[in-house]
Amino acid sequence: MVKYDTVLIRYGELSTKGKNRKTFVQKLLSNIKHTLKDMPNLEYRLTYERIYIKINGEDVDLLTERLKDVFGISSFSLTQKVESNIDTIVETCYQASLNEKGTFKVKARRNDKTFPFISDEINRKVASKILKETDHKVDVHDPDFMIYIEVFSDGTYITCNKIQGAKGYPTGINGKCLALLSGGIDSPVAGYLMMKRGIEIECIHYASPPYTSNMARQKVLDLASIISKYQGRIKVHIINFTDLQKAIYDNCPESYAITIMRRMMLRIADIVANKRDCIAISTGESLGQVASQTLESMRCINEVINIPVIRPLVTYDKEEIIDLAKKIKTFETSILPYEDCCTIFDPKNPVTKPTIRKAQELETHFDYQKYIDECVDTMETIIVDCSSKANEDFL
Ligand code: ATP
Ligand code: MG
Repeated sequence: MVKYDTVLIRYGELSTKGKNRKTFVQKLLSNIKHTLKDMPNLEYRLTYERIYIKINGEDVDLLTERLKDVFGISSFSLTQKVESNIDTIVETCYQASLNEKGTFKVKARRNDKTFPFISDEINRKVASKILKETDHKVDVHDPDFMIYIEVFSDGTYITCNKIQGAKGYPTGINGKCLALLSGGIDSPVAGYLMMKRGIEIECIHYASPPYTSNMARQKVLDLASIISKYQGRIKVHIINFTDLQKAIYDNCPESYAITIMRRMMLRIADIVANKRDCIAISTGESLGQVASQTLESMRCINEVINIPVIRPLVTYDKEEIIDLAKKIKTFETSILPYEDCCTIFDPKNPVTKPTIRKAQELETHFDYQKYIDECVDTMETIIVDCSSKANEDFL
């Protein structure tokens, strides 16, 4: 019987050259170590092309589940490490094939060029033993199972499985972004997609107590906690938006209230992003989804700041977003019926083609800067961690 003792991790090879490669791999390794930090017996080894983890009796199923969520891994395999000796390799591959059914293909890679057999010879020797001793047949085009062999000078890794990784880049190698997180379906998915591109996120949420409840606030923290598993932990900055929101409704016509509110949200996000060294802002906006997400609206809202605003979902259909939300397990929490600051003050006829000139004119009606300063000054920061639910940790 084969006994899987080592995990072999493959990462995106083409996109990682030179100095970038080193940063990529180091960050990937530290992210992997972070998700597996409660498994003290694991032993890590890094080579130019692979990361190896010696399992040493830790829970293989749990390990596999966790690794599937680490960005930057293209695929990984549970392998058995044996001596780099052709007879041992052939015997182990034969043993491994006994666990499998149907047709097979052998794929050897000779990383140690001093090994006396080239890849093709290894393939043939392994295949002929299996053909002779079992009922398995070879199918090189569409095999039911593969046997992968990687030969190194200090040992050979043998496996029949290849598990798809989460792809993308290791979270954190491409800088930090401030993600606008509401309690809705879209923004947690947008945050997830940012992390997938190697961006670390911090979140900002605008709450309007007492109009928005503690349950609504907890829902946002729970959403952050669900997606925090992709980067370990997430800082959530909560802005008390009530006074500013009231001032908007007191001073602007209802049709422009959402437009002005969004402009204020971005102004606040810009200040917080600067303070927190975030070099971009992200939102869950999707083109045409609601009145405030037409192209004209986006232009009018975007006008107030210069920092890049990234909208990963801009061309997605709602159904595609929902599928992703289900996949990352935020959907059930997102559809809990707690009011958001936008829904509380939901205007009847929001303008779909706001103009910058009109928005600027309306903003002269009140001293919004005073409210913005107050929002930033009273901001509260909470750290959420995937392993422990939101912990109220004031910074
Ligand atoms: P979501 O499902 O993300 O709430 P939505 O379709 O409901 O999106 P809107 O309510 O128009 O869309 O919000 C658009 C985007 O603005 C959100 O995706 C989010 O990034 C941001 N946003 C909206 N409300 C808030 C809030 N209260 N706090 C933080 N960000 C918000
Ligand atoms: Mg919303």
